[in-house]
Amino acid sequence: MPRLFATLIACTLLATGAFAQDVKRSITKIAGDVYRFQNNFHYSIFVVTPEGVVVTDPINRGAAEWLKAEIGKITDQPIKYLIYSHSHGDHASGGAVFADTAEVIAHRNAPDTIDGVAPNTRFDDKHSVKIGGKTVELTYLGKGHGEDLIAMVVRPENVAFAVDAVSVNRVPFRDFPGSDIAGTINQIKTIESLDFEILSPGHGGMGVKADATAHREYVEKLMAAVTEGLKAGKTTDQLVAELTLDEYANWGSYKNWREPNIRGMARWLMENGKI
Ligand SMILES: [Zn+2]
Repeated sequence: MPRLFATLIACTLLATGAFAQDVKRSITKIAGDVYRFQNNFHYSIFVVTPEGVVVTDPINRGAAEWLKAEIGKITDQPIKYLIYSHSHGDHASGGAVFADTAEVIAHRNAPDTIDGVAPNTRFDDKHSVKIGGKTVELTYLGKGHGEDLIAMVVRPENVAFAVDAVSVNRVPFRDFPGSDIAGTINQIKTIESLDFEILSPGHGGMGVKADATAHREYVEKLMAAVTEGLKAGKTTDQLVAELTLDEYANWGSYKNWREPNIRGMARWLMENGKI
């Protein structure tokens, strides 16, 4: 018994140590004064200006504390704005790290507090932040992936930060959790309507506007194929077996998420009376 107990403790320590070492954080310059911040599989952006820093999704407390320290190595300017892409906890936790110096901005539909932080500024359709020669243009994307999702475009760099509704050469996350899929397609169309050159999503690699279009087309093709199959009387299991979506086989997460994509789409279509 004592030996087993000791082994259990050792395994727990090993697991904890491995987890701590596996947190992958990085900062890369996207263009001009716009930087990309990575915390494992989550990304946000920040903008450095001579009048202060604009940060976006804090991701979580540990990530935000690390980011704040790293920003302090780039500039001695304070964090003046914290802008949330949306309120989902995996992107929006830890904002308290920045809220002491920052004006906090979120969409009108965001909850009263986001991980304990109450936004000072809320907007409906459009809002822009001007600071130190930069403009961050905020656009509400409507209901789809969540109900408070916005896109941000930083000028003059023309970098767009758009989270969860869109990714670059990567199939959508699992089974479209928390998403109205028709709404998500409209959210992507709104992103496509914005004027920008570089797309920096909340997950995965960076791209350009055409990547947002390709992502929307994937969702639309998946919707059409699953609709057709279900209307022809096929089961979701049959569609999983038949719908190989070969043209996307080289996209990220295709192997893991093709099946949940099909199941999530079938479930959404049936739940919303589309079949
Ligand atoms: Zn989300």
